[in-house]
Amino acid sequence: MKCPCHSQLEYKDCCEPYHTKEKHAPTPLALMRSRYAAFATHNAAYLMNTTLPAKRKYHNEADLLEWGQINTWTNLEIVDTAPNIVEFIAYFTENDGTAHVQRERSLFQKINDRWFYVSETK
Ligand SMILES: [Zn+2]
Repeated sequence: MKCPCHSQLEYKDCCEPYHTKEKHAPTPLALMRSRYAAFATHNAAYLMNTTLPAKRKYHNEADLLEWGQINTWTNLEIVDTAPNIVEFIAYFTENDGTAHVQRERSLFQKINDRWFYVSETK
């Protein structure tokens, strides 16, 4: 199957090794793509595990899971990348058919050789 991050690659050659913890995403971009794919595949544990430990208290798995499940994840576009930033546009559709476009600049931080999602940045 094609990867749910819309890279056009096979899932096994793209985000699956990160989801299965076979390896860690080596760049903020890879982590960002794998987090989008985790929303699409309802993998809330992965979303929580890839959030900076100090920021996890602002999220909970049930909400992340619901957010993933109630939407259909239709596309991902990368706008810009910097050493610890990824700006992207996520396209998704609600159950009732309402289409959404979410643009975000995400901040990432590396701890002990692993990248984590920190938060949205301006
Ligand atoms: Zn992917």
